[in-house]
Amino acid sequence: MENKILGLHHITAIAGDPQRNHDFYTGVLGLRMVKKTVNFDDPQTYHFYFGNETGSPGTILTFFPWPRVKPGKNGAGMATLISYSVPEGSLEFWQKRFKIKKVKHGEIIEKFREKCLPFEDPDGLQLELVATTHKDQRQAWETDEISSEKALKGFHNVTLTLNKKEGTVEILTEIFDYKLIGREDNRYRYKTDAVENAAIIDILEIPGAAPGLNAGGTNHHIAFRVKDEETQMQMRGKILEYRLQITEKIDRDYFFSLYFREPGGVLFEIATDNPGFTRDESLEELGNSLKLPSQYEPSRERIEQLLPELKH
Ligand code: ZN
Repeated sequence: MENKILGLHHITAIAGDPQRNHDFYTGVLGLRMVKKTVNFDDPQTYHFYFGNETGSPGTILTFFPWPRVKPGKNGAGMATLISYSVPEGSLEFWQKRFKIKKVKHGEIIEKFREKCLPFEDPDGLQLELVATTHKDQRQAWETDEISSEKALKGFHNVTLTLNKKEGTVEILTEIFDYKLIGREDNRYRYKTDAVENAAIIDILEIPGAAPGLNAGGTNHHIAFRVKDEETQMQMRGKILEYRLQITEKIDRDYFFSLYFREPGGVLFEIATDNPGFTRDESLEELGNSLKLPSQYEPSRERIEQLLPELKH
């Protein structure tokens, strides 16, 4: 793989009740919980990771569930819509399932000649299923109720809502090597050819849109993927050349991270493939037990008492 941005790594959002969040993503959507840990900056809060079997980059949606969080609001300077890839012909299954499970959803619409089913999670987070016209070869996680012909494969794209797109576009095209591949009204589609999937960023340009409020049911940041720390540090150098502030490398146990706020206001992260989710539990056992970073391991008992109970 090249020394490039390899599409999306993960997306992180804010939820309310942890049990409700867990049940929706594993039960209703059929994703696998690949890691149950805590917010490294606030160990009384869970950090959940949902993805495919292995938690491949480009399939991972993570949450900080805060039981008493106030609802946030989508707006400018935020990632405002998460789009998952599903097999062609599966949207009717999902429409029926959403009706039965009382999931708020809209009508099937079309974007860039692909059918999309918009819906929201119990906290109001905006999501969408895209019936991909190209063959998405990624292996989805299967459950008793959701076979691989229907299951979510991972991210198709994410939408950023911006007042003005220029600064963000410069980062995407000049540094991250994305190219404009389409436009529908004020929606601009950028794609990298470095990877097959999770390769698209949509920019929705709305001059005068109010800024978002980052709380329950909104996205906190989006993470782009690099293969290793060497590529990551090259990217860091390029971001600094643009006179943007960027953090030092941070060890997130399952990947290494850098964070910077791009000119449009969205928090971007650059995350590595290494070491991955099997670093502290086997593939079969992913997500089964509470994993703590080493600095909190001595306080495990107290942390477990403070965290809300979670039934799998
Ligand atoms: Zn992150």
